[in-house]
Amino acid sequence: MNACSWQRLSSSTRFPHAPMHRLAVISDIHGNAHALQAVLARIDTLNVDGIICLGDIVGYGPSPGECLEMIVRHCGVIIQGNHEQAAIDPGAAATFNGAAKEAIDWTRRRMSALHLAALRRLPHAATINDLVMCVHDSPVPGPTDYIHDKQVAALAFRGVDVRICLIGHTHVPIVFEAPSLDHTETLTAPELTAYLPFDGHTIDLDSDRRYICNPGSVGQPRDCDPRASFAILDLPNGEPGRFTVMRQDYDIAAAQMASNRAGLPTILADRLALGA
Ligand code: ZN
Repeated sequence: MNACSWQRLSSSTRFPHAPMHRLAVISDIHGNAHALQAVLARIDTLNVDGIICLGDIVGYGPSPGECLEMIVRHCGVIIQGNHEQAAIDPGAAATFNGAAKEAIDWTRRRMSALHLAALRRLPHAATINDLVMCVHDSPVPGPTDYIHDKQVAALAFRGVDVRICLIGHTHVPIVFEAPSLDHTETLTAPELTAYLPFDGHTIDLDSDRRYICNPGSVGQPRDCDPRASFAILDLPNGEPGRFTVMRQDYDIAAAQMASNRAGLPTILADRLALGA
């Protein structure tokens, strides 16, 4: 990893080239290098202009440094997730469950000072071409951190002042659609539409509406499909176009073996095969 690549982390809120017509969106890699390698190889065949990473590169999995270096090498936007926060600040892990806490303590010990400094420099949010905002969990921090349903999404839309908000964090691919910007503060759940996209499912993005889009998790999916999840965001002529979720097979057995060899809690390897 050269100095330029690491330096780019502190100024990673913009892609170097505009406009962007086709972006890959990845999130929640969680130290799973086997899944990340497979997803990056697939993205390489999809003719994208850039890759957005929505955070949680580390935590849970056995290859945090390796994943961080791959992400820095490939992604134009990199957001700091709550597991990055917990890796650099042990206090931020106070709400983690037992296995997550054990894994993030392991991660903190395992990562180099250079890696931890790189995590510290990652931004919490980024905006692309005044059209797309990127955050890890929610555009409205606090009680809307886990956007699983329309009730929470209605509150989260209050923090969205662009057409598309990209989020990760729940490890479940989902898209919420809302009416245009004119009554954000009074938006209610019945006004929203929620889509649970399957592999290859394309959701057309209406230019008169707003969206919160989650690509699912590369390294620890939780929607009962163990394949790595990511998405392609098409923005033809700089306008909202399509959001397509894709699933990618990878060597889950090898990832499980690496996790168990590292001495991480066995539940973390077990869940990879379940997608849960
Ligand atoms: Zn996560």
